[in-house]
Amino acid sequence: MTYKGIDSKKVRADFPILSREVNGQPLVYFDNAATSQTPQQVIDIIVDYYSRYNANIHRGVHRLSQEATDAYEIARQTIQTHFNAAKAHEIILTSGTTHAINIVASGYAALLKEGDELVVSAMEHHSNIVPWQMLCEKTGAQLKVIPMTQLGTLDMDAYYALLNKNTKLVFVNHVSNALGTVNPIEEIITKAHAVGAKVLVDGAQAAPHIKADVQALDIDFYVTSAHKLCGPTGVGMLYGKQDLLNALPPYQGGGEMIAEVTFAKTTYADLPHKFEAGTPNIAGGIAFGAALDYMNEIGFEAIAAFENELLVYATNELEQVEGVQIYGQAPEKTAVLSFNVKGIHPYDLGSILDQMGIAVRTGHHCAQPIMDFYQIPGTVRASFSFYNTKEEIDRMLVALKRAISMLQ
Ligand SMILES: *Cc1c(COP(=O)(O)O)cnc(C)c1O
Repeated sequence: MTYKGIDSKKVRADFPILSREVNGQPLVYFDNAATSQTPQQVIDIIVDYYSRYNANIHRGVHRLSQEATDAYEIARQTIQTHFNAAKAHEIILTSGTTHAINIVASGYAALLKEGDELVVSAMEHHSNIVPWQMLCEKTGAQLKVIPMTQLGTLDMDAYYALLNKNTKLVFVNHVSNALGTVNPIEEIITKAHAVGAKVLVDGAQAAPHIKADVQALDIDFYVTSAHKLCGPTGVGMLYGKQDLLNALPPYQGGGEMIAEVTFAKTTYADLPHKFEAGTPNIAGGIAFGAALDYMNEIGFEAIAAFENELLVYATNELEQVEGVQIYGQAPEKTAVLSFNVKGIHPYDLGSILDQMGIAVRTGHHCAQPIMDFYQIPGTVRASFSFYNTKEEIDRMLVALKRAISMLQ
């Protein structure tokens, strides 16, 4: 049974965790925006690495080290191909999105001066706010904020008005993790480039649903984490254009990132090693590549179409429930449904849903400025993946109605 290109039964069989129970009920996992589940194909790759060729990379002449290095570099090429980077060394493997943003933010301390301006959006994850605030403290640069609208979109006219010759960097998420809004990054980038500013796109929430072509979009920096796209935790990437990465100083000093070390002077290695100090998450990097292979096998167009169907269905059903307020109603969204029920704290709703085996996230979703904008403490967030089903949404709705009757 294939629907919108997704054979749910077949896909679900790939994810061992989906057959477990929680509180005596089959698990309904709707916390995909926080982390996705891992298919057996990716778990097998990790087990295979530790079972057969666990070794440190780049250093050894021995066979295992060569096999590990080859697999790691093939993964880098898979990531390069997926995002259409011009060169494999423009892909820096990091511990995740947060690490990737910090590499850029910390590097820019050497390139900015007082009076420079940075532009951030009002709907960012804290990891795309705090490193830049720290950068502003260090350099005297100023942070300007693109405001958002009630619908949960960016006010683009206000954005254009913020840009000027002092603007050095713009950072914005491709998709908001709290609202699901897909931001018009192409327009954002074109306008930023027109004043000579560079753009960092936080793709942590977009990459599981949308295949971004960094060259076609002319993206300067793109960051994402593997654990939101069927890969393991603790690994992610920083894509940067070669000349921009070359202009940044290294983030950490240590092994692997040097060309030559003497006590008089140390010179740094070329890309990507300059930003990859120390022993990386080798199994994780290899599994990151495997996760992209897995998702590409299913196909990103099929994934997006199917998830959108789930979103539309869930939104329509949820709107019928009395007292429900949905946050984030942008015309273009990924499958994130953030909502509250009048008079009920999101945490209480989430706890009762958990008792019925349904995993949703509650709280501010690491995006407090959005919650402040709507003047709420947080939301309940159900976020869907291609391995979810309409039947699971029906179960959530039944559970939600029961929770509301218990709490009101
Ligand atoms: C999850 C997320 C992050 C942070 O990712 P980590 O894997 O925790 O580093 C940043 N931005 C967005 C939009 C996210 O969804």
